Formats: sequence, structure tokens, C-alpha cells
Amino acid sequence: MTCLECTKELSYLDHKNAIDSLGVELCPSHLKRMEKLMKSKGTPLEAIQLYYGLKEEGINAMLEWWDGKKSVDIAISRVKLNIEIDATYERMTHEQAINDLEEAMHSFKNGFTTIRIPHVLIQHYLKDTVTNVIGIMDGLKANIKVI
Ligand SMILES: [Zn+2]
Repeated sequence: MTCLECTKELSYLDHKNAIDSLGVELCPSHLKRMEKLMKSKGTPLEAIQLYYGLKEEGINAMLEWWDGKKSVDIAISRVKLNIEIDATYERMTHEQAINDLEEAMHSFKNGFTTIRIPHVLIQHYLKDTVTNVIGIMDGLKANIKVI
């Protein structure tokens, strides 16, 4: 059991605390850093879980990446992919929907693709979600090569 961020060896208790809090294997200092990020930026728990799920597959993403207009939950700059976690249970209003569409438009204009992933998908199907994100990255990479 090692920290996914710094590969430091974790004690039983450190491991238990991290799993109970975030569901991710982190040392106390990296756990604290993530908890602080969630508090200060409102980062969804699932964004952190997906970030580390991707990291385990060797993908370097960025959490809370500032795109010049807003903070993106997860960005993979190499393929210009933005990932937003949808954390709301309620039905979407048309204002929210048009807002999302406008944000997607701005991203596209900057050459970025935005995908939205429901948080329940990450809670229950993290591995499948990671596999699909990797597939999307491959597709984007292929398109970049064509251009
Ligand atoms: Zn660490």
C-alpha cells in the first residue's frame, strides 16, 4: 500500500483514513491536500477518484484546471480534453443546459473537447469510465495526427 501521488509507504491507519475519506490510497499529507482542494474549490469527490483512476493507468491529468474562463474539474492537456463531473441529482433546467452548451462551444473554439460524466458512473463503474476516457483520448490523438 503506497500513496498514489508520492509512492510513500502507507501504514494500516493512514490507508484506512484515506479510503474512508476519499476512497483513494493517499498518504496523510496528500490526503489533506485533496481535502483542502475539495473545500476551497468545491471539487467533486468523483473528480479526485477519476483523476487517480487515470493516474493509475499512467495518464497525467490536471485537477481544477483554469481554462481562462472557468475551472475545469479534470483536464488532459495533451489531447485537449476537458472532463466535467455532473454532481447534481435534480433534473437539469434549460438554463443549465444552455450554459453547458455555451461552455462546450467556448471549449471547442479553443480546440478543446468537453465531456460530462455523471458522478454515479464514477462511483459504480470507475474502471469502465477510465477505459472509455482512454478510448476518447485515443480518438482525439488520431484526429490530431490527421490534422
Ligand atoms: Zn503522498
